[in-house]
Amino acid sequence: MKPQLDITPLNEGSELGLKKPLLISGPCSAESEEQVMETARRLAKQGNIHLLRAGIWKPRTRPNCFEGIGSIGLKWLKQAGKEVGLPVTVEVANVKHVYEALRMGIDILWIGARTTVNPFAVQEIADALRGVDIPVFVKNPVNPDLPLWIGALERLNQAGIKRLGAIHRGFSTHGESKYRNNPHWEIPIELMRRHPELAMVCDPSHICGRRDLLQAVAQKAMDLNFDGLMLESHINPSKALSDAKQQVTPERYGEIINSLVMRRTATNDEVAQGSLEDLRATIDGIDREVIEVLAKRMLIASEIGQFKKANGITILQPKRWDAIIRERCNLGKIEGLTEEFMTDLYNAIHKESIRHQTAVMNNTTAVVAEAVKKQG
Ligand code: PEP
Ligand code: MN
Repeated sequence: MKPQLDITPLNEGSELGLKKPLLISGPCSAESEEQVMETARRLAKQGNIHLLRAGIWKPRTRPNCFEGIGSIGLKWLKQAGKEVGLPVTVEVANVKHVYEALRMGIDILWIGARTTVNPFAVQEIADALRGVDIPVFVKNPVNPDLPLWIGALERLNQAGIKRLGAIHRGFSTHGESKYRNNPHWEIPIELMRRHPELAMVCDPSHICGRRDLLQAVAQKAMDLNFDGLMLESHINPSKALSDAKQQVTPERYGEIINSLVMRRTATNDEVAQGSLEDLRATIDGIDREVIEVLAKRMLIASEIGQFKKANGITILQPKRWDAIIRERCNLGKIEGLTEEFMTDLYNAIHKESIRHQTAVMNNTTAVVAEAVKKQG
């Protein structure tokens, strides 16, 4: 099924004053009236903020810890937004949250990563929002599953929500990783390619899980032409009741935002734009050559397939494959190509090569079957 989204820019039909990059900040969790208010005041002082966030109901991994302050926090957040002149956003995970947030006049809703994974929950939220004109952001599901992310956006869209955005917050990992959630940048990039009209925000806080990586991830998102950033901030980060390791003070938030180099997708300088076009034309030519060479390689693979078939040899030769990947990684290293890239590249080439050889083998099977059939 081809995904279809009918999107209206977030700002249309409202006074939200959202810009690009759309800058969102506030605490992981609302903890007290003073904390929400002081965060808002100190963030507003930084200037670079368009939308104030706070978690009200927190989807925690395990019970018996702080699971959010609950509905009372909506009032604090709305009040804080009013005082500093900013629209506000909260996470909703069920129908009750939706009703309470709407009753309190919350300006924008977001669906969290642990909710996006569940189509039943997303559908219930979408149904509760039928007929309501409010922007909604959908965080990626915790697992690296693009159709599931798109499916959640489609459910909301089909319920009439047109001002839709996506938030990239990384994907759960197992084992050692420098990130709390692996960014898998290729997934939001593919979503942007399929739906360029969708506002795409990056949440470096939940990707990094630690303060020292935030700036680099935020810069990367800007370089990838994301539409905005969501960064958690707290008046006393290390004392935060949730996500203490990744929150920064409002002042540090200001520093991070100010340090970002904002690049454009094109330049007005015709000479510079011309050189860029030339380089791109060279890349296009090289890519055509790469494809021709790969096709040539696959033709040889098919020939090898014929030979293996004729001599009863298996397609996969683990020793030969091991030698190829090691030798190619070494060659790549000499050319300045990373081992990770060479391994991914050769895994893809090998997969395609096996596909070609299997086709050769299968043809034979088909021919044999045909002959057997003819013989009756
Ligand atoms: C959050 O933004 O505080 C949050 C819980 O995020 P996620 O759904 O990305 O884990
Ligand atoms: Mn958080």
